[in-house]
Amino acid sequence: MLENELTTFLQKELNKELKEASDREIYYALLAYTKERLRGTPDITGDKKVYYISAEFLIGKLLSNNLINLGIYDEVAGLLEKNGKKLSAIEEIEPEPSLGNGGLGRLAACFLDSIATLGLCGDGIGLNYHMGLFRQVFEDHKQKETPNPWIEPKSWLLDTGIRFQVPFKDFTLTSRLYDIDVAGYENGKNKLHLFDVESVDEGIIGDGISFDKYDIARNLTLFLYPDDSDRAGNLLRVYQQYFMVSSGAQLILKECEDKGYDLRRLHEHVAIQINDTHPSMVIPELIRLLVQKRVDFNEAIEIVQKTCAYTNHTILAEALEKWPLEYLEQVAPQIVPIIKDLNMRMKGRYPDPRVAIIDDQNRVHMANMDIHFGHSVNGVAALHTEILKNSELKPFYDIYPEKFNNKTNGITFRRWLLHCNKELVQWISSYIGEDYKKDANQLTKLLGCLEDGDALEKLLDVKHTKKVQLAEYLKETQGLEIDPDSIFDIQVKRLHEYKRQQMNALYAIYKYLEIKAGRKPAAPITMIFGAKAAPAYSIAKDIIHMILCLQELTSKDPDVAPYLKVIMVENYNVTMAEHLIPACDISEQISLASKEASGTGNMKFMLNGAVTLGTEDGANVEIHELVGDENIFIFGESSEKVIEHYAKSSYRAADYYIEDEQIRTLVNFIISPEMMKIGDPYHLLQIHAELIYKDWFMTLLDLKEYIAVKDRALEAYADRKAWSKKMLVNIAKAGYFSSDRTIDDYNKDIWHLR
Ligand SMILES: *Cc1c(COP(=O)(O)O)cnc(C)c1O
Repeated sequence: MLENELTTFLQKELNKELKEASDREIYYALLAYTKERLRGTPDITGDKKVYYISAEFLIGKLLSNNLINLGIYDEVAGLLEKNGKKLSAIEEIEPEPSLGNGGLGRLAACFLDSIATLGLCGDGIGLNYHMGLFRQVFEDHKQKETPNPWIEPKSWLLDTGIRFQVPFKDFTLTSRLYDIDVAGYENGKNKLHLFDVESVDEGIIGDGISFDKYDIARNLTLFLYPDDSDRAGNLLRVYQQYFMVSSGAQLILKECEDKGYDLRRLHEHVAIQINDTHPSMVIPELIRLLVQKRVDFNEAIEIVQKTCAYTNHTILAEALEKWPLEYLEQVAPQIVPIIKDLNMRMKGRYPDPRVAIIDDQNRVHMANMDIHFGHSVNGVAALHTEILKNSELKPFYDIYPEKFNNKTNGITFRRWLLHCNKELVQWISSYIGEDYKKDANQLTKLLGCLEDGDALEKLLDVKHTKKVQLAEYLKETQGLEIDPDSIFDIQVKRLHEYKRQQMNALYAIYKYLEIKAGRKPAAPITMIFGAKAAPAYSIAKDIIHMILCLQELTSKDPDVAPYLKVIMVENYNVTMAEHLIPACDISEQISLASKEASGTGNMKFMLNGAVTLGTEDGANVEIHELVGDENIFIFGESSEKVIEHYAKSSYRAADYYIEDEQIRTLVNFIISPEMMKIGDPYHLLQIHAELIYKDWFMTLLDLKEYIAVKDRALEAYADRKAWSKKMLVNIAKAGYFSSDRTIDDYNKDIWHLR
């Protein structure tokens, strides 16, 4: 049935036989077909709708995921195969929309998938960045940023024809609404609403990712997070944020009015989830628009408060946005009196300066506004929420204990299992049937296979297959050669000092020196890194430089190359993650305890049968509780101790460097003649000095224990049977981390949709 329909459609679209068409032609034909199928999928409706507002939606490629959710993946793949084509090759043609940085944006994408899968009525609201996050290329062992366009004449975007006027101080811009359909897994569909400026102009992009920061009408939706190292860059971010929330708020009110709802009952029909502080201006903007529609000011505040809820994603102080009031006056003066009014109300009630919206330097604390004028504040993992309550946001918790709640993050199993690891899916289904595809908790049934030697061996085979596939993929796409029979130890995530890629790099140095000294590992090790650094974050770029130098050093040394390979993949993104994660043996989750709010990479790896090597941080704590001591490798100082170090300023990296000979040797190797010959002395000296004199995220504190525990993990790998049991337990216990569970929790506790 479908086969005939599809064949007819493709032939008409292609104007030739499927056999004769190129992969690119087939991709565009499948895109058209899938969009048609999405159009025919019923909208999810309801009397109340959630709007998930986020500056980022790291959705990744959409073709395969849509085919899976529409329930037609196998048929399409089968038809292509009959005609000598491969769906996996056709997927490669699709450009990846990089509309996010990392975890926070990927979470938003997973949530949209789960909201639709659970049949809840809920849309995303964001911006249609033309270039998204930059494309990373390596030159002279350094990161270079280039534009990353993804919008082609034929794309997933649907022009809705809906336009809004967004008023700024000196001019007004027309906002144009594009939608992307979001199909639930064998369910109806919702929308991702992406706003664009009608006057945007890609022609103003100059060298690399540079452009005229002052030409707002032309630049507003060009890039995600433009450089914010100067005033113009910061103002542009405020322009983007206001543009997003004003367009979003106008859309929300329009949808309510179109349905004939009384705006005074907005909260009965609408829930707004504010993803981190970037969309916080939606609060004053909604108040402004309601007042414009003749709602009383006090009532408007109450309505908005009952509608909005805030998710906190970080305890890194520098990441909590504080905009100078003057910036807001420059961009959107119409909301400034409202923010000042909100501030005065709270000041009158709570004199504690730590909970003020506007501080004594006239900066607006966006999170503080969200907490006072939203009805819910949630952290993203159990430990993170406890830290918010007990230290970071304690003054607020003392005022509003009832607002605080935890929502441990999750990932969509459609992308991170069904799509990226078909071999594992087949293995799981052969033992426990298919029910787990709709109810992730069913995965625990796999524990029944724990003593089944045949099942365990087949599980090892699946992993090996994925490692072979990754090796082929990296060879083809990046020219990197790795050995599928080595241990794949992987750390992929944004580059940040708190995530401590530098600690992992110091391990590489340790192992290099061990091998040089004749102490060879039992099994060869492949250490894989992947990470983009923010363009203005120089220490992060120095760390990339160090890793790329180690890549060259280890690969060119014939004593070392057979035992240790260090590689950094270029342009780590969702597509790359989908290839790397299923092939991983050891998942590196080594952030400084208390600093990683949750992590979601850790969950993807676990689900795909990798064993975690990590600190008691973020959701690692919950992974540890679920799998038990036997099935995870935990090390490092506790979050309490780390928080105490910060409070007392009692960590001094130099002490560790001076007092410990091994630490000194490893750190000094960064500026050894071997390294200086390969790399740029300036950058190597920078990172060397940083580790000794500052080391804000306490690398040296945990380094020795990290080395010891990592060596234990690598040794444990040799007992293949015992290792396969660890893999199995990790997969079996991963059900808790389905974003379906997370969304169900949001809905029960915060949104209250039926
Ligand atoms: C999941 C994901 C992340 C988040 O990884 P963490 O390890 O949780 O920081 C970042 N980038 C991409 C492309 C991802 O898929």
